[in-house]
Amino acid sequence: MQEVITHLRAATSHPGGVAVLTGAGMSAESGIPTFRDALTGLWARFDPAQLASEEGYRESPQRGWDWYAERRAGVRAALPNAGHLALADFDRRHPGVLRLVTQNVDDLHQRAGVADTIRLHGDILVDRWLERCRERPACDIAAAAPGRPPHCTRCGNLVRPGVVWFGESLPGGAMEAASEAARRCRVMLVVGTSGAVWPAAGLAGQARRHGATVVIVNPHPSEIDAEAHHVLRGTAAEVLPALLGVVPGGGEKS
Ligand code: NAD
Repeated sequence: MQEVITHLRAATSHPGGVAVLTGAGMSAESGIPTFRDALTGLWARFDPAQLASEEGYRESPQRGWDWYAERRAGVRAALPNAGHLALADFDRRHPGVLRLVTQNVDDLHQRAGVADTIRLHGDILVDRWLERCRERPACDIAAAAPGRPPHCTRCGNLVRPGVVWFGESLPGGAMEAASEAARRCRVMLVVGTSGAVWPAAGLAGQARRHGATVVIVNPHPSEIDAEAHHVLRGTAAEVLPALLGVVPGGGEKS
């Protein structure tokens, strides 16, 4: 831990010096289940590829909508945990140093106070049309008729959540911004990700090849542990305050 803190201190003198990649484990202590944990109860017989794919949604829009409705309610009820707050606090004390890249579709980094988070996998709280709307003027999604899922009364289009499903491309510019953050940073913290979802999983290796110190924070082994210089076996809410809270801010003495 002490060695990582020393690297973090040095990195705070550089704009973009600290990049952080977060995954579902980041929000686990806020009560938002990771993918594995979300597939319990009624959903235990499905796999993520079925529920989080266009094919799965088209196969049963009602099943897909209900699953996401449950996830949305969980996100709305959740609060940022000590890990989210430690990142936001670090960002306030070191303006311009943190580049936060998240695979999470919840809004807990934003609610904690990190406004310009790079969101690789979209936003679960936003609605989109399932088909690209070809009507002119375009159909107003806010006027969709209620249902499971809601639908357009003009053209029949269905509403879907604004997340990136398996097999879909990432939002324009997001991966480019994330890669730039990885290439530029001096330290990359990888928090709460299994490293199984690409291209996000490749960012740790990219940072390492460009000379950054890579630190994984995860209570369990991940698929990208081999990319790390340091693996801290603990949870986001335990480790991040201990790690970031002791790195002095710009105006403080070290
Ligand atoms: P994942 O579910 O594949 O892996 C979660 C990882 O978090 C695991 O390695 C686990 O050991 C670790 N973990 C569990 N509790 C932790 C804790 N308290 N602190 C730190 N780490 C902890 O998640 P992923 O790698 O992000 O990939 C899954 C995909 O699922 C992503 O694309 C993401 O968009 C999506 N997803 C997002 C959310 C969310 O927005 N909160 C929730 C579930 C899934």
